[in-house]
Amino acid sequence: MALYLKYRPNNFETIVGQEQVKDILKAEVKQDKLSSSYVFFWPRWTGKTSTARILAKAINCTWEWEKPCNECENCKLIDSWRTLDFVEIDAASNTQVDKIREEIIDKALYPPTSLKKKIYIIDEVHMLSKSAFNALLKIMEEPPAYLNFILATTELHKVPETIISRCEVFNFKRISQENIIWRLEYICKQEWFEYEIDGLKLIWKISDGWLRDAIKYLEQVSIIWKITAENVSKFLWIAPERQITTFLSTISTDNLDNIFTEIEDLQSKWIDLTNFLKDILSYLDEHLLENTEENLRLINLFNEIYVNIKLFPTPALAYKTIIWNKKIQFNENTTTKTTPEKQETKKNEEKVETTECEDIKTKLISKLNSPIVKWIIKNFWEIDEENWNIIVYIISNTNFQIITKPENKEILEKELAWICPNKTIEIKNITKEEYFEKQLSN
Ligand SMILES: [Zn+2]
Repeated sequence: MALYLKYRPNNFETIVGQEQVKDILKAEVKQDKLSSSYVFFWPRWTGKTSTARILAKAINCTWEWEKPCNECENCKLIDSWRTLDFVEIDAASNTQVDKIREEIIDKALYPPTSLKKKIYIIDEVHMLSKSAFNALLKIMEEPPAYLNFILATTELHKVPETIISRCEVFNFKRISQENIIWRLEYICKQEWFEYEIDGLKLIWKISDGWLRDAIKYLEQVSIIWKITAENVSKFLWIAPERQITTFLSTISTDNLDNIFTEIEDLQSKWIDLTNFLKDILSYLDEHLLENTEENLRLINLFNEIYVNIKLFPTPALAYKTIIWNKKIQFNENTTTKTTPEKQETKKNEEKVETTECEDIKTKLISKLNSPIVKWIIKNFWEIDEENWNIIVYIISNTNFQIITKPENKEILEKELAWICPNKTIEIKNITKEEYFEKQLSN
């Protein structure tokens, strides 16, 4: 049996996380104070219908003590789907949409034939049609004692208020990293798998919060190897965090030879370079505040690779070309800054107009306080002066969003108006491609 089936929760105790929900439901079952209708509101990551099924069994279990027992006839009937009194409908699936009205209107009103209570689980209930909701509401207004509804949704705001007000609502939480790793560790111990916590952490990371996926990955890796970070990354073609930090520190050294060697090294380890970009970007996002300026510079760089990667014959080539381009550009910026003589000769060759624009830029930068805005203006702006207009082009969407935040935009416009009075100012977004086209046409 697959591990995720073997370790699927089958009573309240084995549901991972959701302590509050579990405690209340257990108490209601114990004191026989169950509601006739429930709404389970959960983010997409929580184990979908398993809690609903456990509740359905607990309602019908004939055992005296801890319910559900999973052993009595009723529990077994539900587990094996051998009863018409237990109906599970997925409102999101087209093939079941027609079934819903028919099930609700025609069948719900008949008493159960084999179970104590008839149970309807409707998953993604917000997808029901208006007429289906009306049919449901009609029954909920005067629910027969033998009928229970368990409605589940990922979008509570789309469920009519009239329905919600007749239900007991439970909010499920996303299963925490801690809980998932704890569960994986439990399974490892039960199954005698050799493991390291770093390996489990990596599995948590790629499973994106889904416990079921995490257990599937765990099983796949365990078949061949001990569960270490190294093996998980080898097997699932993903990079451990150590690899990301090493790569980023190499990028920061500006040594192209080393950077290119590192890219080839990643490739030789069978790391998927497209996924690696996502990992880098989310790593930088997580650590943004630690070194904002440098991390934003890196986000811009890797985002550009991410956007353009499909245009290159191989991902490695996209990395190399774009990093090379950026480094050249970056180094030019630094050299013009450090050697004034060179800057002067270069300036003289350029048109007077450009000099004026450069002046505006320098003046503006000296006036600004925010390091991020300064850095974007320094590296990602182009300015056009047409008669009485100044058009500031901000390259890349991310930068544009930062610049046009009300607080940043206001300061920028104020300072520009001060530097160039009598001119109108406009800030526009431009893509890298458009920018190069503009350069060519000039
Ligand atoms: Zn039972």
